[in-house]
Order: sequence, then C-alpha cells, then structure tokens
Amino acid sequence: MTTPNYVTEPGGQVPVVASSDLVVVGGGPAGISAAVAGARNGLSVTLLERYPYLGGLASGGMVLVLDDMCDGPEVTVRGLCSEIIDRMTRMNLCVTPPESDWISDTAKFRQWARWGCYNFHSHQKPQPVCYASAFDPDGFKRAANDMVSEAGVNLRLHSWFSKPIVEDGAIKGVICETKSGRQAVLGKVVVDATGDLDVAAAAGSPHSLGSFIVTTVFRLGGIDTDEAERFEYEEPEAFSVLDREAKRIMGGSWERWWLKTPLPGIVWCNCPHMAGFDGLSVEHLTNADFKGRERIAELVSFIRAKMPGFKNAFVVDVAPQIGVRQSRLLEGEYVLTKEDVTARRHFEDSVARGRDYYYPYRTLLPKGVSQLLVAGRHYSSTAAAQRISREIPPCMAMGEATGVAAALSLQAGVPVDKVDVRKVQDTLRAQGADPGDRPSANATLEMAAAE
Ligand SMILES: Cc1cc2nc3c(=O)[nH]c(=O)nc-3n(C[C@H](O)[C@H](O)[C@H](O)COP(=O)(O)OP(=O)(O)OC[C@H]3O[C@@H](n4cnc5c(N)ncnc54)[C@H](O)[C@@H]3O)c2cc1C
Repeated sequence: MTTPNYVTEPGGQVPVVASSDLVVVGGGPAGISAAVAGARNGLSVTLLERYPYLGGLASGGMVLVLDDMCDGPEVTVRGLCSEIIDRMTRMNLCVTPPESDWISDTAKFRQWARWGCYNFHSHQKPQPVCYASAFDPDGFKRAANDMVSEAGVNLRLHSWFSKPIVEDGAIKGVICETKSGRQAVLGKVVVDATGDLDVAAAAGSPHSLGSFIVTTVFRLGGIDTDEAERFEYEEPEAFSVLDREAKRIMGGSWERWWLKTPLPGIVWCNCPHMAGFDGLSVEHLTNADFKGRERIAELVSFIRAKMPGFKNAFVVDVAPQIGVRQSRLLEGEYVLTKEDVTARRHFEDSVARGRDYYYPYRTLLPKGVSQLLVAGRHYSSTAAAQRISREIPPCMAMGEATGVAAALSLQAGVPVDKVDVRKVQDTLRAQGADPGDRPSANATLEMAAAE
C-alpha cells in the first residue's frame, strides 16, 4: 500500500511527514516504554512529543522518585523501568538503597527517608526502607534519548497532537501542530500516552473526567542536608514546629516536603499541592502556576530565615510542566476500581503490575475505536483507583505492554483487541518485564477475564 502525500481536512491538505507501524503520542514514562518495546519487537515506530525533551512528569514535572515497584522484598516492576534505573545509575544520576537495607530499622530509615526510598504505605514503625530510586531529571531525559535512539525510534519532538485520523471506526494516524504547520503521521496502531487521554478522547472513546491536586514542583539549591537532617532527628520538637509552619505556607505538601537528589546540595520539593484546578483548562493551569510560584517565594523567605540547613537556599528551577496527576480517564473494556487495587485483585489478562496491584489488558483498550491502545496515568480506571495506581514505574510497565501487544497483533495480522494476551505475557516475561500473570501470594485470584 502506498502512503498518501496529503490528508484532506476542511481547512486544506496536511502533509504526511511520517508513516510507521506504530505511532506513540506522548513521550512520558509510558510513551517512551511503548515506543522502545514496539521497536525492539520489530516495529517501525514514530514517537511524538510536544515538548523538547522526553520524560513527561518524570523529567519536566521533576517527579524525582521511582516508587511503587516492589511488594516487600519482591521487585514487581522490572523490564524497561529497571533498565532506565541502571542507565541513570551508570551516569551517577540515580540512587537506590541496596537490598540489604530493605528492612525496618531506625538507622536505615534515617539514612533513606530523605531520599524518599521507604514504604510510606506501611504501618510498621519505622517504615521499611524499600526498592525505590531517586534520580536526576536530566539523567532521565538522557537515558530516555539513548533508549529510543538505540531502538531506532523515529522521534519527533515539538509536535503537539491536535487531531486523530479515524476512518471506518479505526484510527489511522494523528495530526500534530508544529512550527512548520500541521503535520500528519500515519500508523497501523496508535498508542495514546499523553497522560490526559488527548487522542482517545478526541477519537470519541468513552471516558470520565477526574481531578486531583496539582503541584508546582521545584528544586532548591544551597542546602546543607546534613545540618537539616541533624536538626530533624536531634531536635524533633523544634523541627516539627518549623516543619509545620513550612507546610502551612505551602498549603499542602507531601509528608517530607523536601527530598535529596543525586546532585549535592540540591533538593526537590513535592509541593505546593493545590486543589480545585482543572488540568485541562488553560486558565486554571495559568493561575496554578502563578499561585504556586507565590507560595514558593514565601516559603523560601521563611526557611532562609528560620530553618537550620536552609539559610543559603535558592530556587534552582520550578518544574517546566505543572504536576497534573489526573484529568481524563478512559472508560475502556474494563474499568479498574479502588477495590480491585486495594484487594490486590489479580486478573487472567494482567499485562502489567505496580506495587501489589494488577492492570488487565482490557484497561488499556478503548471502546469505540479500533487499533488504538492507551498507556499511562489515564488508563481505564475510576478516579479513586487511579489516585493510588499511577506511579511512574507501573506507567512504564503499561507502556511496555502496549508496545509488545502492538507488535504481536501486527505480526499475527489481528486487531489489537484480538491479540493473544497469553503471548503478550510470555513475551514480556521473556524480555525481563513482569506482566503480573503470576501473582504473588498476597493477590486475590479472580477469573476477571471471564466477566
Ligand atoms: C506532583 C506529582 C508528584 C508525583 N509523585 C510521584 C512519585 O513520587 N513517584 C512516582 O513514581 N510517581 C509520582 N507521580 C505520578 C507520576 O509522575 C505520573 O503518574 C506519571 O509520570 C505518568 O506517566 P505518563 O507517561 O502516563 O504521563 P506523563 O508523565 O504526564 O507524560 C505524558 C507525556 O505526553 C506529552 N503530551 C501530553 N499531551 C500531548 C499532546 N497533546 N501532544 C504531544 N505530547 C503530549 C507530555 O508532554 C508528556 O511528555 C507524581 C505526579 C505528580 C504530578
């Protein structure tokens, strides 16, 4: 079949700039993984990203801890997530506690708490140190660049998805806005990895509108972290007064509002959290950015004056991408519920897992449009389920599963919703990922696929 040179739309003709087996829209954790897995499994792949770098919230959002990838001592997310950790570690831009430290012990907890590498879901005291990785955002970008270029992915940055090309109920590609005007990219399978379900929603797939707090994450430099930790543990009462005040100024933050990064003296701050903002609204996002920066400026004045370890603090950067956790959510072939997540419900067609919860393939399958898959934080779930199952590692696992599923479906000549899921699981496992089809002893096994 020859590739047409133009797609005609009411406004005129749009040049076709690429045509490949698989088109992945969104170069965040899920999209990178979908693209690399697809290419490594024999597909020609085009990866489209609106910003000038890869990584999504993991780099541009400066969300700098990979967590939810173990269940006690069992590592539950492997595959491309482990690979990017290894690559960043070799660059000296990623720090992970050794296995011997994955215990509940006061000294170990103090050593790792400010790296964010402990199980904050645990009721044990102290909470156990666990397999989690603190990384540098530029390290994530560079490792992702290496992975996509080595896999032969056709990467097109600076390309904003604008419109899906749908014919007879099947997606055939997408149109992007670029500095050179509108451009069409054609594909046999499309993966929506935009995080906000831009492609599937525009293609008419049923979805819901969720929302959650947004955060203008930022980094501070000039921090004496040894002094800050000494104060925290040796003067706990004075520390808790100042820490409470810092959190009041922020108006909302993660329990430990600052965490170490692999760069000396530089910490990242998962705050201020702000409620009531719609992650799809230009006005809301603009206002949230202003409000976040105001709170950051106020916090910096306070901690410079009062907080031991912070007297020379300065703002290194505010994340270029505002931290939107939840917006549109797919209503796909199966909608994962909070009960599924908390009951550790296992599914026959599980293709990815997080800490101790499982993603059936059907949660990546939109209704109403064929040859389209989704991966990442907008997967098919209720808002309550997504809030506790959207961390970076499982998003990477979902992406990896879609790349493999796309390859196997094209090789078998069947649509993506008819792919042999058992083969997807076996291929993922053979390539080092954990599809979650062999649940740990804690899982509740139910014949969900038969529903
Ligand atoms: C403040 C905050 C703190 C968090 N803390 C943690 C944590 O500590 N650990 C953890 O593991 N997870 C954490 N998370 C969750 C995690 O960061 C996200 O759920 C995860 O990054 C989602 O990955 P994704 O690939 O699905 O989406 P995203 O990371 O959002 O990536 C989507 C990509 O698609 C691109 N894109 C979007 N729309 C378009 C378009 N129209 N055209 C082209 N490209 C487009 C974006 O630019 C981006 O690159 C946190 C999230 C937030 C916001």
